[in-house]
Amino acid sequence: MNQFALFREHPQLIYFDSAATCQVPDVVMQAFTDYYQQHHANVHRASHQLGRAATSALETARSTLASFIGASAANVALLPSTTAALNGLAQQVPVKWQAGDEILLSTAEHHANILPWQRLANEHQLILRYIPIDPETGDLGDWQALLNERTRVVSITAASNITGALFSITPLLLAAQARGAWTIVDAAQAAAHTSIQVTELHCDALVFSTHKVYSVNGCAVVYLSDALRDSMAPFQVGGGIVQRVTFTEAEFIDGIHKFEAGSPNTAAAVAAATAVTWLQKQKDVAHLAQLRQQLVRELHQRPWLTVLPSGAHATPTVAFYSDAFQAFDIAAWLDQHQIAVRAGHHCAQLLLQQWQLPAVVRVSLGAYNTASQITRFLETLDAGWALFG
Ligand code: PLP
Repeated sequence: MNQFALFREHPQLIYFDSAATCQVPDVVMQAFTDYYQQHHANVHRASHQLGRAATSALETARSTLASFIGASAANVALLPSTTAALNGLAQQVPVKWQAGDEILLSTAEHHANILPWQRLANEHQLILRYIPIDPETGDLGDWQALLNERTRVVSITAASNITGALFSITPLLLAAQARGAWTIVDAAQAAAHTSIQVTELHCDALVFSTHKVYSVNGCAVVYLSDALRDSMAPFQVGGGIVQRVTFTEAEFIDGIHKFEAGSPNTAAAVAAATAVTWLQKQKDVAHLAQLRQQLVRELHQRPWLTVLPSGAHATPTVAFYSDAFQAFDIAAWLDQHQIAVRAGHHCAQLLLQQWQLPAVVRVSLGAYNTASQITRFLETLDAGWALFG
């Protein structure tokens, strides 16, 4: 807690919204500020010392972020967000689309991993298939029957941003690759909570936003396998990615930098590299799992609340609803008591449709949360029930 300026300033604030965005520790803020105060310049094209220092800062950050997911720097592009990366992948994934080709997603996807594929499907008359989530267990449901010879892309989240369920996606990715489909993993929710080794996952692309791993906004790590990197066209075109330009066409550079047209957000990359280094040093990984267990156990003891199932393994995120109260009223009551949770469909409407719920309350924990905060949260819920229930 004392590593975060926000909580030093507001010690009574309970922040339970880390799945949306994490608070930023001092060491990361310091790296961000240091970059702007000491090394700031535009990268790659500068012939002066400061430009070389900025380029070196960006490339060092890339290497650190790549090793965080077991990748080589040559396979990691830095883009503004997971949303930008998934849009780029949907537009440029190298498939010669034919009407009736299929894309396989799950019903637990964030809208960022649905809408770009829906748009593509509408453009080419493709079929979108959705792996259901088992309503009893909260795990990924049966996918075998949905993967077939027309499946060209499987794009799947590693964890639900609503229930926290960590899905066992490797068998699916392996089977999809064996059938020649491109495999894409949305690791936005998983990156802070599981050790990711891209080479073991059998994915061709994996993306996550670094503001969900205790860093600042404006940076996403985008892993691309050699095959996908080399066969895919740039997502955006512009400065920094061309070999040669004529009046009618351009020749692009090879390699990962072709996905980074324009001036990069070097400060965000530097901050992100510091954040993942900081995160890896947070030894007490059991702490958040224990807090989640405490939370789920206690919520189950309140008959006026229902917790959504989250499978065998989960991130420290829990979703629940009440037949007695609207989710937004619960969140507003908690907010009055300085407890920040989120209510709504959490940009994953398909999953809530399955439970026929318009909205749920989501509690998502981060490194700064404590057992006594869980206790205060439960006491506040109970006080609301006693008053209005
Ligand atoms: N995918 C998942 C699973 C998410 O939880 C989020 C954000 O909440 C996103 C994608 C989109 O991330 P961003 O808003 O950083 O682009």
